[in-house]
Amino acid sequence: MSRLAIEGGEPVVTLPKPIWPQIGDEEIQAVIEALNQARNNWEYLCSAAGGGPTAEFEEKFARFMGAQYAMCTSGGGPALHIAVMACGVEAGDEVLVSPYTWGQTVSCILQQNAIPVFVDIDPLTYNMDPSKIEEKITSRTKAIVVVHLYGHPADMDPIIEIAHRYGLKVIEDCAQATGALYKGRRVGTLGDIGCFSIGDGKQIIGGEGGVLLTNDRDLFERANHYGQHPMRQRRQVANPELLHYMDSLIYTYRIHPLATVIAGAQLPHLDEWNTQRRQNHHRLSKGLEGVPGIRPVYEAPECEHVYHIYSPTFVPEEVEGISRETYVKALSAEGVPIGLGYVGVPIHLRPRLQERQYFYGKHCPWECGVASRDLYYHPGDCPVAEDRCTRTELSFGAGAAWRGDQSALVDQILSAFYKVSEHLDDLRRIEKATQG
Ligand SMILES: *Cc1c(COP(=O)(O)O)cnc(C)c1O
Repeated sequence: MSRLAIEGGEPVVTLPKPIWPQIGDEEIQAVIEALNQARNNWEYLCSAAGGGPTAEFEEKFARFMGAQYAMCTSGGGPALHIAVMACGVEAGDEVLVSPYTWGQTVSCILQQNAIPVFVDIDPLTYNMDPSKIEEKITSRTKAIVVVHLYGHPADMDPIIEIAHRYGLKVIEDCAQATGALYKGRRVGTLGDIGCFSIGDGKQIIGGEGGVLLTNDRDLFERANHYGQHPMRQRRQVANPELLHYMDSLIYTYRIHPLATVIAGAQLPHLDEWNTQRRQNHHRLSKGLEGVPGIRPVYEAPECEHVYHIYSPTFVPEEVEGISRETYVKALSAEGVPIGLGYVGVPIHLRPRLQERQYFYGKHCPWECGVASRDLYYHPGDCPVAEDRCTRTELSFGAGAAWRGDQSALVDQILSAFYKVSEHLDDLRRIEKATQG
């Protein structure tokens, strides 16, 4: 039996990781054409008026997703902030959100001086657990921000049912899930507003950028009103109440048109690339079945996961005497692109939440007079998310790069897992030695 790489043996994974970003001739041609157009049409370089390639991409994106209105933004984060504003969330309002996510699913709430209230996650999908929502609703609850983390859709039907019953708006953070399907429908079209990212590492990329999607004309106009130049507002906002306030007191959250040109060249390939990502990751999942200490990623039967990040689960009970850290070190030494985790610390336990300090100085929104109750965040608030972060979370990076046929790489990665699982006693010895 060959020696573990962590002890000086040969690493199993020798194939290079897929390169990123993957820019094809179509994107390059499209950008060259766009720059040529820019010589006599400024809308190829500036999206203030919202026409040109920006409008073209918005229309294509909306049609692809099956929604009425799309509005590009400078990023997924700005799209979320605008969405929260458009939904009428104000200072001191409460918004339900998962603690197991990228920070910007939550910072959009804080940016509005509103108060995040955390709902624990489902242990299989890692997304908001619908059965834990109702107990968190108060008279101040305005909205739910739902993330489709890692590319796996959240269980939207019960979430939307509860939201309707309590009159709450639902905002979907689809930054990691462009093209993912829930019961045959695209995420981002299920709630009131969907927010996408076309930034680095996402399913399609413009370099930087985001898209806000909705079927609600009023929400679209409000989003426009907060996030776009008056030149564009004049074209797309009809509501007299909003027109009354139309001026330059806005956020510059608009996109660079060339980003829409790059992403626009990629959009027709989105499903094909997602299918490839799914096939590569399904091969990985299948191969990981039965590996001691590892539970492959779950994919609900009614969903199509698009694998932005592959985050399997460490099962300490199956590999007693071996820590997650040592297991990961051994795999990394073999060349497996795996780390301890993506979230690391659940959002409610991070310093800004623990110290109740987002806008420095006055402890807003918690202590500056806008909150209707005194809310603290404690360990134990969201036990499933906390347990995942501290004990069981694992993650592969850069799932978007797994386009094309990566089966040779996946097979090497699997061989590395099998090799390590044949050396569990060596890992126990290493573990003891590191404990001194
Ligand atoms: C990437 C990401 C965002 C932010 O998108 P940007 O385009 O980087 O602003 C928000 N939420 C999640 C879950 C993300 O992964």
